[in-house]
Amino acid sequence: MNGFKRWFSQFMMGRYGMDQLNRFIMYITLALIIVSFFAHSRMLSWITIVLLIILYCRMFSRSIYKRQKENAKYLELKAKFTGGGREQRQDRKASREGKRVLICPYCKEKLRVPVGAGKIKIRCPHCKKEFEETV
Ligand SMILES: [Zn+2]
Repeated sequence: MNGFKRWFSQFMMGRYGMDQLNRFIMYITLALIIVSFFAHSRMLSWITIVLLIILYCRMFSRSIYKRQKENAKYLELKAKFTGGGREQRQDRKASREGKRVLICPYCKEKLRVPVGAGKIKIRCPHCKKEFEETV
C-alpha cells in the first residue's frame, strides 16, 4: 500500500488534480450513477462514462493553466446562475471602467464614481445630498 501511495504521489506530480469544476462533474456523475440504478438507460450510461472521462482527463492533465481557465469560466457561470455574484460583478464592471461603487451615506443608493481623483465632493443623484469621499 505504501508503495502504491508513493507511486501515486509521483504520478500526480505536475498534474492538475481536483478543483471546483471537477468536484461539480464528480457530483453529477455520482447522481447519474444513482439514477441509473433505478432507470436503466443506455443514454444515461454513456453520459456517465463521458463525464468520468472528462473528470479523469482534467485531473491528470499537465496543462494546468488551461484547466485553471476552465475552472474560472465555470465559477463565473455558477455565479451567474446562483445570482450570489451579482454584487461582485457590479464591482468588477465598475473597476473595469476605472470606477468604484460607493454607497450614499444618506439614502444607501449605489453610486459609481471615478477612481483616482483623490478627495472629492459627491452629489448623490438620488437624494441630492452632498458628501465627501476619497477615491
Ligand atoms: Zn443619496
